[in-house]
Amino acid sequence: MKVLVTGGAGFIGSTLADLLVDEGHQVVVVDDLSSGNRDQVPSEANFYHMDVESRWLDRVIEREQPDAVAHLAAQISVSRSVREPLFDARVNVIASIGLLAACQGHGVKRFVFASTGGAIYGDATVIPTPEDYPAAPVSPYGASKLSFEHYLHVYREVHGLSTVAMRFANVYGPRQDPHGEAGVVAIFSRALLAGEPAVISGDGAQTRDYVYAGDVAAALVAALKSDLAGAYNVGTSVETDVNHLYEQIAGAARVTRPADHGPARPGEQRRSCVAIDRIRHDFGWKPRVTLAEGIPLTVDYFRQERAATQ
Ligand code: NAD
Repeated sequence: MKVLVTGGAGFIGSTLADLLVDEGHQVVVVDDLSSGNRDQVPSEANFYHMDVESRWLDRVIEREQPDAVAHLAAQISVSRSVREPLFDARVNVIASIGLLAACQGHGVKRFVFASTGGAIYGDATVIPTPEDYPAAPVSPYGASKLSFEHYLHVYREVHGLSTVAMRFANVYGPRQDPHGEAGVVAIFSRALLAGEPAVISGDGAQTRDYVYAGDVAAALVAALKSDLAGAYNVGTSVETDVNHLYEQIAGAARVTRPADHGPARPGEQRRSCVAIDRIRHDFGWKPRVTLAEGIPLTVDYFRQERAATQ
């Protein structure tokens, strides 16, 4: 299979590109390198340094003729989406519709979209939250991801393009940006290895569903190979609070100092955890890497990164 991965120089996209190459698939990557890293793109992949807003994207699809597209390139910052909702919608909705149209126009058979569990369900009263829980995003980012899911449905119904939305929980693992606003595992790992304090906002009792990037990549590959439609959560259904997460990361980083606590973030979601019965049942997928295994793998990665740059 030939797969075009948008955002394939990023954290999850490059993990997916590696897995596809390992399985013997042909890979094409489109990425504007706004947050991604060219060195993370597997050497076997055909790389296009290109914005998904570019009018040349259609020509890339025409020329490469991929069987399937995994669409991960996105405006991913919730706070930027609040500051610049039009920019967020331009990338996450308008440019993404352009990509869908190009796929439909050039005979792409399968389209897999990286959506979000946390930002779409908001502060859900049902935990773990299933896919049919009423979506009520409270950020432009969540709203743009959910809007684009509707276009996936439209293109399937009207144009017969096989589409699916994969709603990720909180993804962590090697290659995550430790300087981003999200990605607490990467942020804490970098800080603790550098001998800096890791600051927990509020009491640290807020919970998230942390899923390892390698497991997410495996879910995306399963989705690329299938024709299943609709939305699928990709997570673990295990709620972990930030205090516990800190202990695990500090342990792996061999740091004994207790965490610092800063002010709570106004409006921060208290609990977030997704149900995974649907993906288990339909795809036979389940998370394989537990937090106790994934945290040391991630901390080791940042330790090596640090050693390489010193
Ligand atoms: P990332 O920033 O590492 O990856 C995004 C990639 O897209 C980067 O390589 C970036 O350079 C590229 N990109 C951004 N805007 C682009 C544009 N206009 N044109 C071309 N390339 C562009 O982030 P990530 O965490 O790997 O996220 C990948 C996808 O997964 C995103 O769609 C994100 O919304 C989604 N997601 C991530 C998480 C998470 O926990 N990391 C959770 C839910 C959903």
